[in-house]
Amino acid sequence: MATDVLELWPYLGYVGSRLDRVSERRNQTPEFLSDTRARACLIAGETVILARRGAGPHDALFELSRAVSMGGRLSEACLLGLSDGVPHFALPLHAASAGALEGREDVFLTDLRSIAVEQLVSPEQLGELACAKAMLSWHARRTFCSNCGGRLEVGDGGWRRECPQCAAQHFPRTDPVVIMLTIDGDNCLLGRSPRFAENMWSCLAGFVEPGETFEDAARRETMEEAGIRSGAVRYLCSQPWPFPMSVMIGMHAQALSRDIVIDANELEAARWFHRDEAALLLSRTHPEGLVAPPRMAIAHHLIRAFVEGRDPPGG
Ligand SMILES: [Zn+2]
Repeated sequence: MATDVLELWPYLGYVGSRLDRVSERRNQTPEFLSDTRARACLIAGETVILARRGAGPHDALFELSRAVSMGGRLSEACLLGLSDGVPHFALPLHAASAGALEGREDVFLTDLRSIAVEQLVSPEQLGELACAKAMLSWHARRTFCSNCGGRLEVGDGGWRRECPQCAAQHFPRTDPVVIMLTIDGDNCLLGRSPRFAENMWSCLAGFVEPGETFEDAARRETMEEAGIRSGAVRYLCSQPWPFPMSVMIGMHAQALSRDIVIDANELEAARWFHRDEAALLLSRTHPEGLVAPPRMAIAHHLIRAFVEGRDPPGG
């Protein structure tokens, strides 16, 4: 349950949605769209539109009619769910429509990572935006049928694409990614990808392959990227990661070897950090300016659980 995740891992981003997804009522989407209370978020590719608020968090939800007037495409609306009976939708926006909003005083344009890092909206809305962005990313990539090449239609409130030519049905997908902190006593293994911000060190991660358990994927990725063998693997928590549509499966892994051999295609460096030094990465007080990912990211919480000597939930 999202509620439990947020209580156990405060500040973890993208996990706070409280919407009832009403998956059994998605065929009622036309009625939900005519509900005068309906609200919608607006996303154009990587750009999210927020309603500016003077104090406190900004608002990611607009009245549906206002969202449409700003360029939201109603024909491609995704029903995110109900909040106290009020339907919430995600509407895609053309880049040109988003561009036309630049400079307005009542809204501003930003990206989902910035919204999470800077806590620009409530945790509940951040969770809704994560779902919205993943869904709209999937739609943007699934215009044609992978079975026959026909143009697909949108069905089930945006949760299905249907092929009128061959009757194939296509469903939104989520790609599982394991992210693990490998631990050897009082030390943990962190790496640096060339894609990271300067001085940032984080957990190793990689996509789960077909036919593989999460645990085996964690062991394989750690061996491939850093040459470290690992044994026991324990699950801590997960995080939707809508870039474009993944879920991160966070784990602690027990190291069985210590000599690091990096895969230079994946990492520019990897090294062991003592628990005390890892604490300085989290607090951003390391004497060399090294940092861990921000607290919205699951890697931060995997490192923090190790630094604080906390067992995973149920562990
Ligand atoms: Zn088809």
